Amino acid sequence: MASVVHRCRVLVIGTGFSGLGIAIQLRKRGRDDFILLEKAHEVGGTWRENTYPGCACDVPSHLYSFSFEPNPGWTQMWSGQKEIFHYLLGLVDKYDLRPNIDFGQKTTGGYWDGEEQRWHIRTESGDEFVTQFVVSGIGALHIPNFPDLPGRDTFEGAAFHSAQWDHDYDLRDKRVAVIGTGASAIQFVPEILGEVAELQIYQRTPAWVTPRMNFDIPAGARRLFGRVPLARRMFRAAVYWIHESVVLGFNGHPRLIRPIEDVAKWNLDKSITDPDMRRKLTPSYSIGCKRILGSDDYYPALNSPKTQVITEGIAEIRPDGIIAGDGTEREVDAIIYATGFHVTDGFESIDFTGIDGRHLAGEWAEDGIQTHLGITVAGYPNAFFLLGPNTGLGHNSVVFMIESQIRYVLELMDEIDRRGAASAVVRPSAQHEFNSEIQRRLARGVWSNGGCVSWYLDSSGVNRTIWPGSTVRYWRATRSVDLGDFEFSPG
Ligand SMILES: Cc1cc2nc3c(=O)[nH]c(=O)nc-3n(C[C@H](O)[C@H](O)[C@H](O)COP(=O)(O)OP(=O)(O)OC[C@H]3O[C@@H](n4cnc5c(N)ncnc54)[C@H](O)[C@@H]3O)c2cc1C
Repeated sequence: MASVVHRCRVLVIGTGFSGLGIAIQLRKRGRDDFILLEKAHEVGGTWRENTYPGCACDVPSHLYSFSFEPNPGWTQMWSGQKEIFHYLLGLVDKYDLRPNIDFGQKTTGGYWDGEEQRWHIRTESGDEFVTQFVVSGIGALHIPNFPDLPGRDTFEGAAFHSAQWDHDYDLRDKRVAVIGTGASAIQFVPEILGEVAELQIYQRTPAWVTPRMNFDIPAGARRLFGRVPLARRMFRAAVYWIHESVVLGFNGHPRLIRPIEDVAKWNLDKSITDPDMRRKLTPSYSIGCKRILGSDDYYPALNSPKTQVITEGIAEIRPDGIIAGDGTEREVDAIIYATGFHVTDGFESIDFTGIDGRHLAGEWAEDGIQTHLGITVAGYPNAFFLLGPNTGLGHNSVVFMIESQIRYVLELMDEIDRRGAASAVVRPSAQHEFNSEIQRRLARGVWSNGGCVSWYLDSSGVNRTIWPGSTVRYWRATRSVDLGDFEFSPG
């Protein structure tokens, strides 16, 4: 098939919260000359991909949604995947975004043409998109990570990742192994327990689990939120500040999050009576070092006589079972990998070539990921990242971060237009200052000192994922573009 060249002013990669969020704001501002590229055949990102039983957000829905697109009708405090997915689909219809989306277009990379002052972005299909601005909204949790276990490919039963749930596979009366005990496993384990004959849970590190106490939002409250926007805004604000209040505890004042650790310990003690099991499930690191999980039915599921928690590691996978680190062989019919995603290396999945032929993926692999505010990179004009490096959160909704970034990017685009310039590129000094500052902050945070190894860290043990501070601080840092941080090139 002949490749096609398309032209636009703004090219957005991805159609999750990030891509759709900026597309809505571009539409609202009448900047209609934009295209979204999506490798899949539907929008939704995380909420399209993760369809495992029990999949839900772990930040309350009124906060885990756009402030500029509130949904007074959330049915539960923490909504399930279907409801969040439908919220995003509804936004696509409301803003008539489908005509702007090119589905089945996996972006592979692109280069900046300094003379033309344009990006040339390629897709796997061979198409080329020539654009003034490129915005990456590819997310951090979209490339499933499979552990490198000896014999993994020899397994003859069913095997799938939690983010690629095989709904055609009937789990009824099967012996099922779950590898991993993070945020996804904790949600689906209680859901599948009733169906399976046997559940073997392979745990490397236990999570701190607090009670969640999810509840249906009463119809009366939903009506109130619909009719009185102030009531909904106050509710959202209350949820926001409750989450924000723990931030000091994460950032160098561990005493302040100890009460949450006490609640998690109490939850464990009251739920698990077998001392051996309790020992296995007690984390040896400080709460917050890894994502804190909330569940009311995970521990009860582990109490079931059908469930075994295996903490000896995995030595080998055989065609019909798993050999644990202590040599015990257990037969299984299916293996579910709840082993997370390629996070820091996922940022490098698109190969951008900037000024003077610089390669972003190569630079980041060699020197570690460096950006300014997680949004822009020195040497790569007019290229922006949403939910980029060091802007993930352990304590609050990332949608707040995405919104801050969208505002910042649009302000910079407006400034470029206002000056009649063609491009802006962040100064290396600004980027350097930002990275030194966040690494200094990260060094004293619970992620570095809490005694755990988490997916927040890259292969060198450096945290390239988490924003080390309050979201208020990030909001302040991005609320208006410091024009001195940028060099503008004439149009
Ligand atoms: C199960 C689960 C629950 C979560 N719950 C919460 C929560 O409660 N609170 C919270 O703050 N965060 C949560 N997160 C984190 C979540 O990923 C973010 O909140 C948010 O959904 C990220 O949105 P995004 O648009 O940046 O990325 P994504 O949702 O990952 O979307 C990225 C999109 O880009 C597309 N894409 C990727 N690469 C390419 C390419 N090369 N070319 C073209 N298209 C591409 C993908 O197909 C996808 O559609 C959760 C994550 C998971 C997995």
